[in-house]
Amino acid sequence: MSTDVRDPAGRYLVLWRDRVLVEARTRAPFPIEAARAPEGADVLSFEPGSLGPDDGSAPGGFVLLNAARDGMEQLRDDPATALRFIDPMFELGRSTGTLRRGLVRALAAARWSEATRFCSRCGAPLAWDVPGRVKICSNPKPHRHWPRLEPSAIMLVSDGERMLLGRQASWPDGMYSTLAGFVDQGESVEEAVAREVLEESGIVVGRVTYFGSEPWPFPGSLMLGYFAEAATHDIVRGDELEDVRWFTYDEGIALQSRLAERTPNADTIARRLIATWLRERSASENGVAS
Ligand SMILES: [Zn+2]
Repeated sequence: MSTDVRDPAGRYLVLWRDRVLVEARTRAPFPIEAARAPEGADVLSFEPGSLGPDDGSAPGGFVLLNAARDGMEQLRDDPATALRFIDPMFELGRSTGTLRRGLVRALAAARWSEATRFCSRCGAPLAWDVPGRVKICSNPKPHRHWPRLEPSAIMLVSDGERMLLGRQASWPDGMYSTLAGFVDQGESVEEAVAREVLEESGIVVGRVTYFGSEPWPFPGSLMLGYFAEAATHDIVRGDELEDVRWFTYDEGIALQSRLAERTPNADTIARRLIATWLRERSASENGVAS
């Protein structure tokens, strides 16, 4: 990766193997000045405003330490600052607004950059053409490479009375969420919703309605959220999930408070789908026209 430091006094998020450098006490991301980036680190600037508001308060880019282990240890073990690296899954679960957007962008670009070091057409090494956005190979007739997004469908299936949620074996006890899966080549997102729901739960869906989307950097995914109406009721669980089951309104409310304890950010698309369904269910129970 080439290095491009347009603003040596600017502050940069520090990433190491998908982990974000934070202040240990507050767990807030701790950007460093680009000039403090350790030897061997890649420093990448983004255009102003892309990692937060364009008023000088947002990070100007990120410092990627993957090839600079010494630098990682030096930053982490500095007793004056008490910094540590944490899993950004946690950070993304509690941050909101522009900081969240900036982290997602930086993580997605860092991941893509690490995995995209040679031209897939001619094999020549790649360097940044537009930092954070486009890479170019060293071929005399250069090829340009843009990050590819991986669309995935995330869906809340309902039979009108209940919602269908599943859990992975690795999740904490009692945690359930909406079903999700990647969109296959040659498939519409609506088709992916129907296929994933059938594979994971045996439920056949009827009408599928778009809800909203959310970028997610693990990997460079774009999650497209849908509501889906169940046309059948009997669950036949597939191999991907540890459990899939129907949740009543009351069970959904209890789940929502468990989710709130674990990830205070209610702004993820899964949480928004669940909250919207509960709100609409409550409104229809109370006879309020939706
Ligand atoms: Zn090439």
